[in-house]
Amino acid sequence: MNIQAFIFKIKRLLYLIIRRFQSQEVLAVYDNDLDSLLKKLGLFDEVNNGAFQCPECCIKITRENLGTISNENGAIIIRCLSTNCKSKEQT
Ligand SMILES: [Zn+2]
Repeated sequence: MNIQAFIFKIKRLLYLIIRRFQSQEVLAVYDNDLDSLLKKLGLFDEVNNGAFQCPECCIKITRENLGTISNENGAIIIRCLSTNCKSKEQT
């Protein structure tokens, strides 16, 4: 697979996940899918190291509370799954 096809595949995957989140209440990612997605995005180690915070409620993102992954203005944004989180205001 060449690099452009690979990038397209990731973009499409992200797009599908974002769409899925917007049409449903919660993104349901199975563990295996989540690992492979994080690895494809190069975020696996960062998430496991607690490098991400939810931008809405500032909780540390872990594999257990990872809710949605989105690409906003070229930046990867990860939001938590907490029911207290006000991420529903997302545009
Ligand atoms: Zn949150």
